[in-house]
Amino acid sequence: MKRLIKQSTIDKALDKHRRRGQSIGFTPTLGALHRGHLQLMQQSQQACDVAVCSIFVNPTQFNDPNDLKKYPRTLKADKALLESIGMDYLFNPLADEVYPEGLDTGVNIDFGQLDKVMEGAMRPGHFAGVAQVVKRLLDMVRPTHLYMGQKDFQQFTIIQHMIDHLSIPVELVVCPIVREEDGLAMSSRNRRLSDHTRSRATILYKTLLSAKESYTSMPIADLERDCLTSMTFDEFKPEYFSIVDGHTLQPVVNVSDHHYIVACTAVWAGDVRLIDNVIFRHSS
Ligand code: AMP
Repeated sequence: MKRLIKQSTIDKALDKHRRRGQSIGFTPTLGALHRGHLQLMQQSQQACDVAVCSIFVNPTQFNDPNDLKKYPRTLKADKALLESIGMDYLFNPLADEVYPEGLDTGVNIDFGQLDKVMEGAMRPGHFAGVAQVVKRLLDMVRPTHLYMGQKDFQQFTIIQHMIDHLSIPVELVVCPIVREEDGLAMSSRNRRLSDHTRSRATILYKTLLSAKESYTSMPIADLERDCLTSMTFDEFKPEYFSIVDGHTLQPVVNVSDHHYIVACTAVWAGDVRLIDNVIFRHSS
């Protein structure tokens, strides 16, 4: 695996593949890698000629300075994992490289209601930061395919909107959520959970699955309220449990009006904020 830290070195390394007409799969991450990340990279390895991932803890997407400070940084272990799966390139830029002085990297797109709900409502500025860093990384890496996880449902929806809106020549591939054996969605933040909290953090997935059982047989607002109640105990404090249209992210009232329905939730587990989602229905 080649480690790339400078724009000039990525350009040189990837240009040779572009000239040969090879496809380039790109997986952006914040690092502290786990099997969820590796799944994206392995899919990109299978589908593309060249597989690139980035590790960059992007300061502009953290609305909470404490979260940024405590975000796990495990570059040595990450590199060993990337070597073990045979990744071709790790792009590990410095903040100055991503945001050089004098370069306007902001993304001024109207996301409509997509960034106003759920994570957008709870984490002001988060999606502006995500759109900014993904756009900038796409400009630097210029991949043919971009790999993202369903784990961040609203994030990939917003990035697809940006790709369409700016006509960026890249295909977004979304990969399913990888879970621990007990159902907890894998996340870099899980390692910050105490053993006791970790053992009870399965409540998110259990609640999502039980809501999937009953969403066609009871009013959605009542179901959302019950789910919030069942995730409220001791150090567990939900921020939202929203059953929304998978395209628009707007609330579902009558399930029969929607072909694509997803339930998304965010819950504080002590001082760690966890998110998860389950697709209830996706038919064309
Ligand atoms: P992050 O490092 O948290 O920014 O995540 C980088 C990418 O990995 C994003 O596209 C995430 O949606 C994806 N990802 C994170 N956790 C998982 C998971 N458990 N399953 C699938 N994809 C994931």
